[in-house]
Amino acid sequence: MLIRNIWAVGRNDRGHVRELGNEIPKSPVIFLKAGSSAVGSEKKIQLPQDLGEIQYELELALCFDEQLQISSACLALDLTARSLQEKLKEKGLPWTAAKSFKNSCPVGPFFRVVNLHELDSYSFVLKRKEEVLQQGSIKEMLFQPVFLVEHIRKYYPVCPGDLLLTGTTKGVGPLFQEDSLLAEGEDGYRVNGFFS
Ligand code: ZN
Repeated sequence: MLIRNIWAVGRNDRGHVRELGNEIPKSPVIFLKAGSSAVGSEKKIQLPQDLGEIQYELELALCFDEQLQISSACLALDLTARSLQEKLKEKGLPWTAAKSFKNSCPVGPFFRVVNLHELDSYSFVLKRKEEVLQQGSIKEMLFQPVFLVEHIRKYYPVCPGDLLLTGTTKGVGPLFQEDSLLAEGEDGYRVNGFFS
């Protein structure tokens, strides 16, 4: 299914909000990544050379089906040109250049979701070789998947195939050329790799 829009949630984890020096939000902070920024994680991903440091943010991504329900999900990276984003934030400008560049959303294989509540305590980890870079759980998020899905459907023109990135956890850091990262969900079979 074509991904037309990627709805992304910022500042949804206390630890991550703190590490970037932001305020805890009272309602979800929503921004867009172009649907065409999605790229399969099995490919070698070309990163832009002139945007400064690109950072990884591992997130659970929910996929809207034909009925705009969630029947599948995957792990995805919300790649971010961090220093560029900081500059844009300072000036009160949109984040698009820092969040929606080419290949800025590597997505892993999808797995089936029968009931959205089964993801309420979903946990995930991002590794570089044996080093754990990020480790998080949906339990720790300020806004849970069920709430986020309702919120997005209420306020935005969601289309079948759209993704909802539910926010990252603490531990964001730089992605290097020729890097190879592995994202794993709580179940062993929900595994995918991200390469640049
Ligand atoms: Zn993010």
